[in-house]
Amino acid sequence: MAFEGLDFYNLDDELSEDERLVRDNVRRFVDAEILPIIAKHYEAGTFPMELIPKFGELGLLGANIKGYGCAGLGEVAYGLINQELERGDSGIRSFCSVQGSLCMYPIYAFGSEEQKQKYLPGMAKGEIIGCFGLTEPDFGSNPNGMITRAEELRNGGFRLNGRKRWITNGNIAHVAIVWAKLNGVIRGFLVPTTTRGFTAQKIDGKFSLRASVTSELILEDVELPADAILPGVQGIKGPLSCLTQARAGIAYGAIGAAMACYDCALSYAKDRVQFSRPIAGYQLVQQKLAHMVTEITKAQLVSLQLMRLKEKKKYTPVQVSLAKRNNVFHALEIARMARDILGGNGITYDYPIGRHMLNLETVYTYEGTHDIHTLIIGQHITGISAFE
Ligand code: FAD
Repeated sequence: MAFEGLDFYNLDDELSEDERLVRDNVRRFVDAEILPIIAKHYEAGTFPMELIPKFGELGLLGANIKGYGCAGLGEVAYGLINQELERGDSGIRSFCSVQGSLCMYPIYAFGSEEQKQKYLPGMAKGEIIGCFGLTEPDFGSNPNGMITRAEELRNGGFRLNGRKRWITNGNIAHVAIVWAKLNGVIRGFLVPTTTRGFTAQKIDGKFSLRASVTSELILEDVELPADAILPGVQGIKGPLSCLTQARAGIAYGAIGAAMACYDCALSYAKDRVQFSRPIAGYQLVQQKLAHMVTEITKAQLVSLQLMRLKEKKKYTPVQVSLAKRNNVFHALEIARMARDILGGNGITYDYPIGRHMLNLETVYTYEGTHDIHTLIIGQHITGISAFE
């Protein structure tokens, strides 16, 4: 049966017709093209490459960017796209988040006109795939400490050396946005992945985000021309502003994973009979379902308001932290509760819950861990940083 959504507080009425249309289109796409294949890809640890041109055709790549062949949608529509994609799988949503918010956004916001013309139209179509290299083996939550270095060459170009770890799309990317220190200041570089000295090594053995390519990037004397640097930003605010873009979408995305788990647990509980009654008739199961609906509704309210603020350019990074922290925490909690309601069946590939639950362990950690977002909110409230 097609997914009907969950709208306890009539939030559909708060959406424009266009926003509902975008959401419903992506919902149909996910039902028709992602749900039938995703468990097999997850089990095999492969990414469904054949979907990439379809993401482009549907306008899902850099959907909230204006011009350069991008869909130019509003932030709520962008959030709803994330929600629907993650109802399919967090790995699929991650591909689109990295492409749009972490790679296309910095080129759009900080790139030269030539860089925008060179990359954005092809990236919007899915013909050029990007990856975003910030995290390093020894610098995750504290990217400011990064070791990767750029030095200026006599001809005006640059030489990069360093390692980046946990990089989504690393092995399938045509261009890597690599953040490196040039004379002690963090700068962004556009590195074609065919450049000599650049290597991507796939990270295997993951139990989470299995339908997503994750890689280590190795940069050994990678020489780049002068126009490879992003001219419009310097310092940690460059990568952090990309993460703020992505995190707002991730907060919306987590609602999709939570809705998929709730939907599955509810229909299972109505069918599954134990002690001669459907388990949905027992108070303890109803308590779990009621908790899920409550937390999903709260997350919907937070995300809708966050994106409305973003549309008015009135949102702040700490508001994004609150939404990412809250929504992912409760999505993971809901996935675990849903897994419990399915009993033994909850650990199989026959149902999507186990896959969502394990995916959400990554979502809880990437784009700022749950605890780092706690500390960002704590710093905002008290004026005292507990982590810097
Ligand atoms: P650490 O920073 O070592 O943290 C470990 C634990 O210590 C966490 O619980 C953390 O909250 C806690 N901690 C750290 N500092 C403090 C403190 N001051 N106070 C209290 N607790 C603290 N990165 C990219 O650049 N690009 C990508 O595309 C990308 N994709 C990813 C895909 C996957 C599947 C995964 C798993 C990660 C990805 N990441 C990516 C990296 C991700 O952003 C990092 O894993 C994350 O920032 C955490 O860094 P870490 O893993 O080094 O953990």
